[in-house]
Amino acid sequence: MIEKFEKPLLVTEPSLPEYELYIKIIKRIWDKKWITNNGPLHIEFEELLKNYLKSDNITLFTNGHLALDSAIRSLKLTGEVITTPFTFVSTAHAISMNGLTPVFCDIKMIDYNIDEDSIEPLINEKTSAILPVHVYGRPCNISKIQRLADKYNLKVIYDAAHAFGVELDGTSIGDFGDISMFSFHATKIFNTIEGGALTYKDNFLKDTFNLLKNFGIKNEDEVSIIALNAKMSEFQACMGILNLNDIDNNIKKCKILTELYFSNFSEIPGIIFNQIPINIKYNYAYMPIMIDETKICIKRDEIFERLKEYNIFTRKYFYPLVTNTFAYSHINSNTPNATYVSNRILCLPIFSDMTLHQVQKVCDIIKEILK
Ligand SMILES: *Cc1c(COP(=O)(O)O)cnc(C)c1O
Repeated sequence: MIEKFEKPLLVTEPSLPEYELYIKIIKRIWDKKWITNNGPLHIEFEELLKNYLKSDNITLFTNGHLALDSAIRSLKLTGEVITTPFTFVSTAHAISMNGLTPVFCDIKMIDYNIDEDSIEPLINEKTSAILPVHVYGRPCNISKIQRLADKYNLKVIYDAAHAFGVELDGTSIGDFGDISMFSFHATKIFNTIEGGALTYKDNFLKDTFNLLKNFGIKNEDEVSIIALNAKMSEFQACMGILNLNDIDNNIKKCKILTELYFSNFSEIPGIIFNQIPINIKYNYAYMPIMIDETKICIKRDEIFERLKEYNIFTRKYFYPLVTNTFAYSHINSNTPNATYVSNRILCLPIFSDMTLHQVQKVCDIIKEILK
């Protein structure tokens, strides 16, 4: 019997810069007495991020959800938006709260992303956009989705909340579609405590987003639209500046951890994991496995519970499926793959400060449970 972990091992831990470095940088906030509303650190962080994401147009927000909400508003969408049920509820909420109807499309077993070949039958005269999610940071089939969008004159907004730092064939993941949303929430690979950003093609959207995140205030004399407050503060920007220094190193660490997980699981037939395609620069932010109970005679939920006995707290991302929540019980959908995956998926602990020793111990414990 393997000993349990002394302290709870959670699915993730936020990446934090050196405490002293944060204290040092926030001194600049005190010096200026400017704590939010497009301050100097906000401006500096936005520039750094623009460089890192190799993106011409970027706007910061106080969180990813309000960024996504603003993306939807900015394109003045109407009617129906095709999306995936295999996501965090934020995606569907952003659609619904703008008075639009989410239409749920099934996913693929290969990467759990929206099935581009199932989108077309869902398009009708009410459809105005497609809102796919790069699930676990793995890129959707961008070229096929864009071809459909062009054919039917639809907008494309990517929920890239998981995909910070990801590149596809050398192109930043934020460069595809009309707009992409990144989340910098504490649980994501790159965090600004809470935070988010949009990257986008049309540079005229910059002014729109500045209105959308600041009550629609155009200037001292004019409020031009009805809008939210979704501004990023200087404290968040400080965290972003420091964490951006560490991001490449953090991704490298998570890559090594992922490889150790993969090598352990390659011997176990009932544990399914997806290799990372070679044309992708990946961020290793999540470690999802799927439990095929027909091969190992134990269900996901039992493994989930047994791991708790060892002080390992995994997460069933994404369970329940959005379409199986009470909030979306009014919407009809038929997404068998998404249902299948949602009932079998388990995200294991992975974060930059995790050690190889911890990963090996998690794997050994899983093997013991499967015995
Ligand atoms: C985290 C997340 C969001 C929301 O981002 P916040 O910054 O937490 O508001 C949206 N979509 C997905 C897929 C997410 O994982």
